[in-house]
Amino acid sequence: MKFVETKTSGCVFCKVQKEADGTGNLIVFRGSNAFVILNRYPYTSGHLLVVANQHRPSLEDLDPETRGEMMELATRGMRVLRKVYQPQAFNMGSNIGAAAGAGIAGHVHIHIVPRWLGDSNFMQTLAETRVIPEDLAETWRRVHLAWEASSS
Ligand SMILES: [Zn+2]
Repeated sequence: MKFVETKTSGCVFCKVQKEADGTGNLIVFRGSNAFVILNRYPYTSGHLLVVANQHRPSLEDLDPETRGEMMELATRGMRVLRKVYQPQAFNMGSNIGAAAGAGIAGHVHIHIVPRWLGDSNFMQTLAETRVIPEDLAETWRRVHLAWEASSS
């Protein structure tokens, strides 16, 4: 029997989908099956999350269309971040399950973290020693504007 966490109450990724998009819920873009949102606790400025609309714990629980869209949104997100922040590199990936470090383990999401030489290394970011980011509302405005101007 396969364990699938179905509890959506208290899930922030379910909650934000019911709110108006802007500097409050931090959603940058909504696709058909997934959306892009700023991480409220960013490791670096511009830290994005690509989140499935459905409350499912793993990529394995999503249909191929949703998985494909998530990868396309992640790619578009990198293009947008390059324009806005000129990062030198990215960390991109997903923590699947609480034991892997997923903060919201019931609702699968992909991190896109822009990186620069000399910023804190990834072990430090994992230990939550973060680069001081700019104001989240300002980040949302910059990324949202660039996203609207970008093509898929
Ligand atoms: Zn959820």
